[in-house]
Amino acid sequence: MQYEAVIGLEVHAQLLTNSKVFCRCSTKFGAEANTQVCPVCLGMPGTLPVLNRVAVEYAIKMALATHCKVNDKSIFARKNYFYPDLPKGYQISQYDQPLTQKGYVDIEVNPHTKDFGVGVNGAKRRIGITRIHMEEDAGKLLHGESYEDADFSFVDLNRAGVPLIEIVSEPDIRNSEEAVEYLKALRDILVYLEICDGNMEEGSFRCDANVSIRPVGRKEFGTKTELKNMNSFRFVQKAIDYEVNRQIEVIEDGGKVIQETLLFDSDKGITVSMRSKEEAHDYRYFPEPDLLPLHIDEAWIEEIKNTLPELPAKKRQRFIKEYGIPSYDAGVLTASKELANYYEECVQKYEGQGARGKGQGTAGKNVSNWVMGELLRLIKEDGKDITQPSTFSIQPSAFAKLLKMVDAGSINLKTAKEVFEDVYKTGKDPEAIVKGKGLVQISNEGALIKAIDEVIAANPKEVAEYKGGKEKLFSFFIGQTMKATKGQANPQVLNKLVKERLAK
Ligand code: ADP
Ligand code: ZN
Ligand code: MG
Repeated sequence: MQYEAVIGLEVHAQLLTNSKVFCRCSTKFGAEANTQVCPVCLGMPGTLPVLNRVAVEYAIKMALATHCKVNDKSIFARKNYFYPDLPKGYQISQYDQPLTQKGYVDIEVNPHTKDFGVGVNGAKRRIGITRIHMEEDAGKLLHGESYEDADFSFVDLNRAGVPLIEIVSEPDIRNSEEAVEYLKALRDILVYLEICDGNMEEGSFRCDANVSIRPVGRKEFGTKTELKNMNSFRFVQKAIDYEVNRQIEVIEDGGKVIQETLLFDSDKGITVSMRSKEEAHDYRYFPEPDLLPLHIDEAWIEEIKNTLPELPAKKRQRFIKEYGIPSYDAGVLTASKELANYYEECVQKYEGQGARGKGQGTAGKNVSNWVMGELLRLIKEDGKDITQPSTFSIQPSAFAKLLKMVDAGSINLKTAKEVFEDVYKTGKDPEAIVKGKGLVQISNEGALIKAIDEVIAANPKEVAEYKGGKEKLFSFFIGQTMKATKGQANPQVLNKLVKERLAK
């Protein structure tokens, strides 16, 4: 039987506010344990929470960016459970009246994706968002992180009360690749909005996956399990693949999937039962009596809407159209807002000098080739960050100048790559490097003919063979003259002249 997976994701994103969501403690990461706490976030009796307006603004930004409806009234609720990382004994969250709901994110699934029986390869897919609600984070338990032989755990409450949004998807996702594409789309949006750093390893962007399977063609959903503990995109993909196959095996063996929470063990690549439905928490949600219902007026929503930046999907589309580049290039270049800006500046500077890339299509594509090829390679080599182009030693004006020199024929491509690297490493002016090292391309026919004739004179055997019909040897003569001119010969002129001289 053919099965398809049904997947819904619950994503927690830590908001980049300066202070916590219900008190004025700092949210700064990396401080000494329990130094960013106060009676409110420590859950002392008699303290009262005060809602952080910026956190609400950030949540609304995400809602607008994902086409969600912002409710004019929403309510905070207490989610009750006991755990040492939660001093109040309840988490302030939202339950039946969340801040925002009913949106979507469009994703594009890689053409090379494998698929679980539904024809989704390369297709655009719309993943529904059920709701986005606000809540506070809990503290962090530290197991055996100091006092070497400690057989107990520590608790750090710096994170308690840090604002989160939870983004709950509809069960619209059909395989692990779609899940990862959806997560990447969410993360890109959050990072573009500058409301979350999107760091999965540090836990500021976390995901739980709900997974079930059903025979292809059946409408009803199967029983789902919930997967936790996946702190990278790769682990999300692996955990879902493992779990889908596990469920298929259970069903094929005549068994039943039981509703339970599973932990992904990244070392073994398997999912392990954490608790079954019988042991599931009953959170006894009830409205938070210490916070008023939250009213959001239209004017504020409008105001926030006006501050939204161009979002990744839009930017990608615009790049494809405006710069004539393939969608792959657009995807790479918009991986960070800052890299995208850098690219645009380079194109502008380049076009400003009257240049269009010669023989390589538009200026946009030419710059794209250089960014994706040389620049990203060098950035990777020296561990620079694509969100910080101001730290690159090659700035857009130098970038454009170098490309212009290639167009003008004053240096060839091979030299240009060397100079690019040099500018990248030293920040020197490309023209100065070319002059200083005597790298100017030789297009002067007289000089080239001299070099070619020397090569011909030095290789009588090859000349004879070439004339005897061994045409492959043509590239030998090109190579030898290139070597003699230290790679500075203009390739087009050289080609023409070698042909002419050999024909003599
Ligand atoms: P719960 O009550 O267990 O929290 P919800 O209905 O709130 O379940 O859904 C939680 C998440 O699980 C959502 O992202 C939703 O899309 C997803 N989901 C719900 N039912 C299924 C199912 N049968 N298979 C896969 N995912 C599901
Ligand atoms: Zn506090
Ligand atoms: Mg639920």
